Amino acid sequence: MSKRRGLMIVLSSPSGAGKTTLTRKLLAEHDDMQMSISATTRKPRTGETPGKDYNFISTGEFESLLADNAFLEYAKVFDNYYGTPAAPVQDALDQGKDIIFDIDWQGAQQLTQAAADDLVKIFILPPSKVELERRLKSRAQDSDETIAKRMSKSESEISHWAEYDYVIVNDDLGQSMDLIRAIVAAERAKRKRQLWLGPFVNNLVQGR
Ligand code: 5GP
Repeated sequence: MSKRRGLMIVLSSPSGAGKTTLTRKLLAEHDDMQMSISATTRKPRTGETPGKDYNFISTGEFESLLADNAFLEYAKVFDNYYGTPAAPVQDALDQGKDIIFDIDWQGAQQLTQAAADDLVKIFILPPSKVELERRLKSRAQDSDETIAKRMSKSESEISHWAEYDYVIVNDDLGQSMDLIRAIVAAERAKRKRQLWLGPFVNNLVQGR
């Protein structure tokens, strides 16, 4: 029996709130966690690696995967499709691994329908609008037009904050990481996720 049931950890935020940095740090600290690699029809940004950041595919390929029910959830964001392939998620959970999803509120809502028991939903907020814009500009990956588009989209993304279990205002990276570590530890310790507890308690009362 697997020692515990894997968690599905959803991290959502407006672009530029620091989610990618937090996700990378979390993965680096936990061998038993893996990232869900989404498929997208958007073009790779400078510095992005196909197969690591995303699987970059054409709209035709996306639609054919969609028709095959290959996605656990999907959404259209900024005129492009984004979707979570179902098979790797199942594999990770079967192995007792946690899986992290960097998906938007639309994906979080769909996963809530599909797998509420395994889900832990965390929303990351920037400390202010000014800081959000500064972070978007400083990463120098997007054109001014794209940055303006992301800023105007951030308001509608933020409006979904109350659909999440946990909300972190990412002002200080160290403090945000401490909070995420605490959330993961507490969620892992939940009784329903400790599959070994039943047999353990049986042995305990029988003095074995
Ligand atoms: P970006 O283009 O900046 O990488 O991502 C844009 C938005 O799409 C982000 O809010 C990100 O969380 C979301 N996103 C990325 N992959 C997926 C996915 O597979 N499903 C959904 N629903 N959203 C995704």
